[in-house]
Amino acid sequence: MFSRTPFVARRLRGLAVAAVLGAAVIAPAHAGAPVAVPAFSGDRALDLVRRQCALGPRTPGSAGNLALRAMVIDAARKAGLRVSEQHFSAPLGPKGSGVDACNIIVSAGPEGGERLWLAAHYDTRPWADQDPVPARRTEPVPGANDGGSGTAVLLHLIELLGASPPPRGVDLLFLDAEDSGRQHDAAGFCHGSRYLAASLGAFGSPLDATRCRGLVLLDMVGRAGARVPQEGYSLALAPDWTAAVFERAAGLGLDMFEPVPGRQVYDDHVPFLQAGVPAVDLIDFDDPRWHTTADRPEFCSAASLQQAGRLVADLVYRP
Ligand SMILES: [Zn+2]
Repeated sequence: MFSRTPFVARRLRGLAVAAVLGAAVIAPAHAGAPVAVPAFSGDRALDLVRRQCALGPRTPGSAGNLALRAMVIDAARKAGLRVSEQHFSAPLGPKGSGVDACNIIVSAGPEGGERLWLAAHYDTRPWADQDPVPARRTEPVPGANDGGSGTAVLLHLIELLGASPPPRGVDLLFLDAEDSGRQHDAAGFCHGSRYLAASLGAFGSPLDATRCRGLVLLDMVGRAGARVPQEGYSLALAPDWTAAVFERAAGLGLDMFEPVPGRQVYDDHVPFLQAGVPAVDLIDFDDPRWHTTADRPEFCSAASLQQAGRLVADLVYRP
């Protein structure tokens, strides 16, 4: 993803802090029966970041990308969840030729009723074009935070959903081909989300947009010391949903999420916003290792991943 607008630094730590709750929260679900929110493990999520990076780069069409697809699908099937694969051709090969790409949709919970969509891109960037060392700018990024962190949160959530069926329907969107655009060329980014958002109303689409309560995109949520403000497009085009998600974070005492305006980032939530889906991008865009060869697991933190995971688990289990 990339940022369209100049960054306005805002540091208002402490605003988001409210009551700190325990790991497992009992609350009434829609059906009336109390539902326990399963404990999300930041350590397990960090382990899943490392496992992704051990596959090598996950650029579209690469061996690492195919291996990660298999890991996601295998985890979902083991958990007893429904899996849909949406194959498409992304124009990322030589001279714009097509590369096989694939969005993976993992669904859990009741088939009817309102649904929550949680998304992350699982591909990684082919070039570390922001690397401080010019000679390394043609190397692929390891993608621990950029790609790996959001994917790890969703992979661990698959495990929780398998063990504890949720009271509401939830669709996990593992998006491909997000991060192969050149700087200042939005058309090169977000191929998977654009394809999925364009097919929402089509026959055979695995997603029903008319029943979507909202979408939460997790991108770069794993850095030690991450700060997540309210991303600009989310705030402008889905203000109520953005406020609701940040209020939930504040209620849980998750101070990584700061209810202050952030800059606009063209990311996988934008095609969904354009399709009329309320969507919020939870993104820490201040990672100094963004699009460098230093985007490695040792700079990720179980604590940051746990904050992101606790937030989305709470949204799943306490509608
Ligand atoms: Zn990126």
